[in-house]
Amino acid sequence: MIEIEFFGVRGSTPCSCRSTVGIGGNTSCVVLHCGDDDPIILDLGTGVRYLGLHLNAKAAEDLSEPFRGTALVTHLHWDHVQGLPFFVPLLSEEAELTIVGPIQESGSLKDAVESFVRPPLFPVDLHVLPGSVEFLETSHDNLVFGSAQVLVRPVEHIGITNGYRIECDRGSVAYIPDHQQPADGSCLVSDTVLELCSDVDVLIHDAQYDASEFEKKATWGHSSIEYAAEVARQSGARRLVLFHHDPSHSDEWVADAVRYVSELAAGAFEVLAASEEMVLTSGEVASTPAAAEV
Ligand SMILES: [Zn+2]
Ligand SMILES: [Zn+2]
Repeated sequence: MIEIEFFGVRGSTPCSCRSTVGIGGNTSCVVLHCGDDDPIILDLGTGVRYLGLHLNAKAAEDLSEPFRGTALVTHLHWDHVQGLPFFVPLLSEEAELTIVGPIQESGSLKDAVESFVRPPLFPVDLHVLPGSVEFLETSHDNLVFGSAQVLVRPVEHIGITNGYRIECDRGSVAYIPDHQQPADGSCLVSDTVLELCSDVDVLIHDAQYDASEFEKKATWGHSSIEYAAEVARQSGARRLVLFHHDPSHSDEWVADAVRYVSELAAGAFEVLAASEEMVLTSGEVASTPAAAEV
């Protein structure tokens, strides 16, 4: 069983305004808990700040060990990494974070991350943070973290981008937050994406546009909600979580999208919209405070 908690669900840029308060305005960050294993974080967008506060509060409550965990980063666009220097567990010198991310076109993953956590873009260099940060650079792999097996595969987007599938103890989650659907509007789904999503319990997928928006932004690196449904249908996913909401999309827009995509699914899979503070398990919906409004 995997517990899935959402801390940031927006794409492109944080957005904080009344029309998005139900879904939330922080960018990509989800955490997976597989039993007693160390947490697996999916992306380090601005939501990771709230995850850090949450983990610190929990650690103080049960006097648990300093933070140890892994972040599976899909790519280095701002909306997926901007929260890293605000992840408060790294203020403890015993904290250990391993960042897994794609092989870069030039230079290392470590160099690329260090290049944006340093003056003048940030007040201090990354290594000034007391906790230790290690890097594992890979775009095609089968990894093991605790009891979890992690499949890493490249996914079509703008720039080198990974998708991930995490499996443990009868639960499975596929995470593809940024995914360029075929620009010609076809429904073709690549073999690597089908491999990541095949019969998965929970598919967390790019849902940035609807079909009419996609027509105007067909090469901007993302998927329509219709295509997200197609990926779920072709791969046999059991539950589709619409994710990476466009900053311009209001709570109402997203609620309409869930209804529409549920009609497209016709009972073949369940459809939800990701919202901050939503908690799922790889089986049942544990609690969905914000989702109740959508
Ligand atoms: Zn993104
Ligand atoms: Zn991106």
